Amino acid sequence: MTHNIPYGHQSINEDDICAVASVLQSDWLTTGPKVSEFEREVCKKVQTDYAVAVSSGTAALHAAMFALGIKKGDEVIVPSLTFAATANCVVYQKGTPVFADVDPDTLLIDCDKVEELITDKTKAIIAVDYAGQPCNYHDLETITAAYNLALVADACHSLGGSYMGRPVGSLADISVFSFHPVKVITTGEGGMVITDSERFADRMKAFRNHGIQTDHTQRNKNGTWFYEMTELGYNYRLTDFQCTLGISQLKHLDEWIVRRQEIAARYNNAFKDAAGITTLTALPERTHAYHLYVVKVKGRNKVFKQLRELGIGVNVHYIPVHLHPYYRREFGTGVGQCPVAEEVYEQILSLPIYPAMSDDNVERVVNNIREICK
Ligand SMILES: *Cc1c(COP(=O)(O)O)cnc(C)c1O
Repeated sequence: MTHNIPYGHQSINEDDICAVASVLQSDWLTTGPKVSEFEREVCKKVQTDYAVAVSSGTAALHAAMFALGIKKGDEVIVPSLTFAATANCVVYQKGTPVFADVDPDTLLIDCDKVEELITDKTKAIIAVDYAGQPCNYHDLETITAAYNLALVADACHSLGGSYMGRPVGSLADISVFSFHPVKVITTGEGGMVITDSERFADRMKAFRNHGIQTDHTQRNKNGTWFYEMTELGYNYRLTDFQCTLGISQLKHLDEWIVRRQEIAARYNNAFKDAAGITTLTALPERTHAYHLYVVKVKGRNKVFKQLRELGIGVNVHYIPVHLHPYYRREFGTGVGQCPVAEEVYEQILSLPIYPAMSDDNVERVVNNIREICK
């Protein structure tokens, strides 16, 4: 009996466990010193000035929309081939997500399509570094500068990646990370918003704490109990034991990215001449974080089913967001709106990839999928 191979899996070691245990025995389980330490460490890693740790990647996207002041009547352009949260965050702020199609070879947002969708209501673009590959930030910056739009990077897949020598996290006005267990590093649940703008950072810090301007440390320092809620915020805080796990995980980021790239290189090599399997295009001048390894196959549903029956945990990322019943009903979206995303959706398959995956398991995936697709 061969064991199951998941499509993604976290790596937790003794150091992670010890770090979490020691915080559990400390005075601060939440809003303590590990939160700002985690924020400082991520800032250092991605060469950016400010970071705000929050309870999920979704909360991070919501905080970004709040910081930008997205409100009713505003439009935000998002790619259709992404996780629903990329679009949902716009709706949380009562804005309208406008779905852009993707490039068929990279599945990244298509910059030509983006430009066609801009109206006088457009306020921002959310770019998604699909599978871990940074988008075409040069073209995106040209567009946002020409139309005076904000650029948000949904970098939930691409922590540890880079574009033209610049780390992911420093490529947009605000960048968003997720620390869900399948992502590149984990805090269980968790997320972070990254920016060079002090004003955005201050707004997002208040937003994660009910919209209250001062936190308990400032109040203690000033010897006062007084606080004011100046905006509607949420409880989007991340605990200290999660932040300490994040600090510990971050130490492995570089080696894990290298391992993900090795696995991707093995897959690429094995599928070069394989019948019925098309790999995605990896663009030059980038470090690809390979959160996902995605191929296009004919008869995807059958291939999916057969691989799952063999204990190989394949998955599909993603159902185009404009096809979800909620968006069809509330925003009148539907078939025909993003033809490339709709067509590739029928073909895409995410293969197992995670740092602890063995070469033998990569081989097992390769042999089975080649056999099924030929
Ligand atoms: C995972 C993910 C999110 C949401 O992150 P959570 O931490 O699960 O809330 C948002 N966008 C993309 C592209 C993601 O992959």
